[in-house]
Amino acid sequence: MTRCYNFCAGPASLPEPVLQIARDDMLDWHGKGLSLMEMSHRSDEVVGVAQHAEQTLRSLLGIPDDYAVLFLQGGASTQFSAVPLNLLGDKGRADYVNTGQWSKKAIEEAQRYGDINVVASSRESNFSTIPAQSSWQLGADPAYLHYVANETIGGVEFFWTPQVDVPLVTDMSSTILSRAIRVEDYGVIYAGAQKNIGPAGLTLVIVRRDLLGRAHPLCPAMLNWQVAADNDSMYNTPPTFALYLAALVFDWLVAQGGVSAIEAVNRRKAGKLYAAIDGSDFYSNPVETASRSLMNVPFILANPELDKRFLQESEAAGLLNLKGHRSVGGMRASIYNAVSEEAVDALIAFMQDFEQRNG
Ligand SMILES: *Cc1c(COP(=O)(O)O)cnc(C)c1O
Repeated sequence: MTRCYNFCAGPASLPEPVLQIARDDMLDWHGKGLSLMEMSHRSDEVVGVAQHAEQTLRSLLGIPDDYAVLFLQGGASTQFSAVPLNLLGDKGRADYVNTGQWSKKAIEEAQRYGDINVVASSRESNFSTIPAQSSWQLGADPAYLHYVANETIGGVEFFWTPQVDVPLVTDMSSTILSRAIRVEDYGVIYAGAQKNIGPAGLTLVIVRRDLLGRAHPLCPAMLNWQVAADNDSMYNTPPTFALYLAALVFDWLVAQGGVSAIEAVNRRKAGKLYAAIDGSDFYSNPVETASRSLMNVPFILANPELDKRFLQESEAAGLLNLKGHRSVGGMRASIYNAVSEEAVDALIAFMQDFEQRNG
């Protein structure tokens, strides 16, 4: 068996020890004579796994008791609707920041439900910057302010927390658990699992409990956070296998030393890769230095005619999924928690070798 280095943006790399445990558990989970996938979600076993996942996540992120942790389905994209449906309330209006493609999708979806004020957009810089908060045009008395903490496609990340008087709602799909955050700063944090948590099919919502109970009367029960909270995320059948794998990933993260420890590794990985890009005339990254994502590193070759060869040769060298998003072109290396420093070193060595042969 050969495991390649996987730089996929999502579904993304999973820690190898997690896959090994899952393999060993597959036919017979903890001597029960069946796999976890085949058990009732109401069984002590599955409920125990769900509770363990929640407790481990709470300790990893320091989630206070006045926040509910919900394990849902439908991906972050479903939360683009669930956020306005749960939070707009009587006000019917909200503020959104536009820093790229995921922001745009969140905004378009929210516009179905309310009056959406875009406080700032980085369109003019082709979404390579984060607009300073001093330039934002905040709305009058919005129900909340929404922003995307890390734009997975553009590779731009907020390294500061917006300061507003209304609940902050943030899409952390591609940055959650990559570095320390203060959960208390937020009203709602949500994330699809398939970048830094586990396999696709699971969606995490962390919501301050006082924000529950405001859902629009037409909000489907399946999108209503209060319903999910009241039912321990088991209003219907949850994605039990994805939850089990996420629990294993959380355990793995604890074994790595937790979020601060992985943050140090992530900063080293990203630092090296950006330094390699900046140190060459052959590669470049368009994002302003202060907002360069730790998790998603887009880069282009000075000569795009070499793109195809770069992708063919990198794949042959065991470096997978480096093709940039179809809307941007070029390359993108997603270097989530489960992508080792060794993988990043191998990528940099390949890039330097490729440049020498083609530069
Ligand atoms: C991947 C991603 C999404 C979409 O997630 P789905 O789970 O596919 O709906 C939304 N926002 C961000 C920031 C993402 O990276």
